[in-house]
Amino acid sequence: MAKYWTTPAVEALRADGVRISELDTSATPGFTGDKAAGVESLAERTAVLSGLQEKLYANGRSGDKRSVLLVLQGMDTAGKGGIVRHVIGSVDPQGVDHAAFGVPTPEEKRHHYLWRIRKALPRGGQLGVFDRSHYEDVLVVRVHDLVPRSEWEPRYDEINAFEQELADEDTTVVKVAMFVSLDEQKRRLRERLERPDKYWKFNPSDIDERAYWPAYQEAYQAMLERTSTDVAPWYVIPADRKWFARLAITELLVEALETLDLDWPKAGFDIQEQLRRLEQA
Ligand code: AMP
Ligand code: MG
Repeated sequence: MAKYWTTPAVEALRADGVRISELDTSATPGFTGDKAAGVESLAERTAVLSGLQEKLYANGRSGDKRSVLLVLQGMDTAGKGGIVRHVIGSVDPQGVDHAAFGVPTPEEKRHHYLWRIRKALPRGGQLGVFDRSHYEDVLVVRVHDLVPRSEWEPRYDEINAFEQELADEDTTVVKVAMFVSLDEQKRRLRERLERPDKYWKFNPSDIDERAYWPAYQEAYQAMLERTSTDVAPWYVIPADRKWFARLAITELLVEALETLDLDWPKAGFDIQEQLRRLEQA
């Protein structure tokens, strides 16, 4: 286990039994270090993540169909983009399949909600990242009655079946739900209005959405309770401290990749023979 962790991240952050309304979003579950220790630890573990991802990619190039899919959910300003930039940004981009899901396009609306998701799944050897996902179809859709309850209600079971399918196809799904407090969100939104380099992240509707916070909490709670399964468990990330969220998710990815027990792919040629040929070339 990594330094400063009392419990592996996959245990410390499991969603089981978590009440979101009571969550301390500034906590650092399982991690005993302070920010300085966290930053130091992040640098070490990022190197480990990068090495494991290279092995996954190398195996994929050799025909291995295994992949890993990181699903990021969280309210605006929770830090999903920061995870993509800083955690995923630390690995070889050739091995990354990134997809962000916004309001469905007219074409996407004509299809089943999993249509656009299936198209974006990681290929063998890839580390896939979903910035938002099919879970929006039981979150924003539920909160704003975008479809009637009779339509979103069966989606929990349908999503579980879909993720079972992914597991059967050797995709390891790592689902993280990031939570900031309402105050922290206000601070981060204010920053988006005060810094020209952050205007692009601001959307006026983010302010309207704050009125729906309790409804979102309820929808997130239902999501965790109904779709955290053995094949695709949810992890809850207290995200007021950015350094912790980054470290925690790095750790979850490292632990998921370690479970795959990856080795370098074997040479598909006779090494001695190729060395001999090279000398004569
Ligand atoms: P952002 O992640 O800040 O670019 O915002 C994307 C927006 O798209 C968020 O407001 C989401 O709630 C919204 N969104 C994502 N998926 C769906 C969906 N299936 N239906 C409706 N809105 C969605
Ligand atoms: Mg946004």
